[in-house]
Amino acid sequence: MPTQTLDREVVIIGSGPAGLTAAIYSARANLKPLLIDAPVDAEKQTTPGGQLMITTDVENYPGFSEGIQGPDLMVEFRKQAERFGTEFLEEWITEADLSERPFRLQTENYVVNAGTLIVATGASAKWLGIPGEAKVPDGFGGNGVSACATCDGPLPAFRNRPLVVVGGGDTAMEEATFLTRYASHVYLVHRRDKLRASRIMQDKAFCNEKIEFIWNTAVEEMLGEPEAGVTGVRLRNLQNNEERVLPCAGVFIAIGHKPNTDLFKGQLDMDEVGYIKTSHRSTATNVAGVFACGDVQDATYRQAVTAAGTGCMAALDAERYLDHLPVAMPSGDEVTIEGEHVTPDHSAIIEPDGTIIPNQPENLVAQED
Ligand SMILES: Cc1cc2nc3c(=O)[nH]c(=O)nc-3n(C[C@H](O)[C@H](O)[C@H](O)COP(=O)(O)OP(=O)(O)OC[C@H]3O[C@@H](n4cnc5c(N)ncnc54)[C@H](O)[C@@H]3O)c2cc1C
Repeated sequence: MPTQTLDREVVIIGSGPAGLTAAIYSARANLKPLLIDAPVDAEKQTTPGGQLMITTDVENYPGFSEGIQGPDLMVEFRKQAERFGTEFLEEWITEADLSERPFRLQTENYVVNAGTLIVATGASAKWLGIPGEAKVPDGFGGNGVSACATCDGPLPAFRNRPLVVVGGGDTAMEEATFLTRYASHVYLVHRRDKLRASRIMQDKAFCNEKIEFIWNTAVEEMLGEPEAGVTGVRLRNLQNNEERVLPCAGVFIAIGHKPNTDLFKGQLDMDEVGYIKTSHRSTATNVAGVFACGDVQDATYRQAVTAAGTGCMAALDAERYLDHLPVAMPSGDEVTIEGEHVTPDHSAIIEPDGTIIPNQPENLVAQED
């Protein structure tokens, strides 16, 4: 049960490039943001710093002509956010109530009331959902099955052994190329006969003589023994349905990501995959005062620089939102930035020219029309 309550004007969830950029901007605007991020958890796939913590070279983030390691880049993001006074809280958020302001977030130890909320919860790896894939003891997850080559590739169990990577996008190419540092051979198993990966990533993989492509094929089952871990995979050729066992010491699933939006289901508008919908040219969601940035709302670009860019937008959008909220006067009136007065009992709005509008839903609808 939560034992402590925090009330903060700007709350950001997630410390990837989007959340930390939003923190830098809102801290510099003196909004004293609280950034909440989950601790390291292999099962939930959370790491403070986000997805770039599990990669090596980042060669496309502007400003680093020689490239930079993903974790080093995120340390710099965090230091910059800290420098301007961002407050950090390392907790996994279990519940979010966006039905009224302040929005209410719950963690194991805290209830956090947020005047405005920036959602930057990113995305997590997808799984195949096949036999043998579940976590130990139900399957071989963590004992030969992984979704992160950078994290698990260097393990002794995989050294000089054949490994399998599943997928056809950038992540699969990167994982396969990275694993060739350790493996004797890497099989890249893909359901189709062509890749979705960018040209440069494909070329890198095709040029690597340790990588062998197995096309039009699905992994049907992870095979192994409790002590030995994974010993192979059962493959099915999708063109002729032939099955075979491919011996290997590990399987790396690299078939894409799922936005981390379960917390907000039924509250924030999302597309069919679960990406949060934001309004055109802004980070505003369907709930006033809630903004979304980074991979959690971006099914198209999913890059660190675009995540950082939308993090900046979310901070500016949140700042404008707060600036436009009515200010309470000693008289009990509230004054909006447009110069409207709201009576203390909220029964009427007095416009700058003296026009009085009864604060009834039907009048407001009539006004909008
Ligand atoms: C292997 C790999 C290599 C990549 N390489 C590059 C590259 O070279 N260049 C590039 O531009 N991009 C790269 N990317 C993509 C880039 O990492 C993402 O686009 C970027 O990290 C998205 O940032 P984000 O801030 O939106 O979310 P994320 O980085 O996903 O961060 C989200 C954060 O939210 C937290 N969170 C989620 N749910 C909760 C909750 N309920 N409570 C508390 N905290 C929560 C998570 O712990 C996480 O820290 C790579 C991605 C991967 C996986």
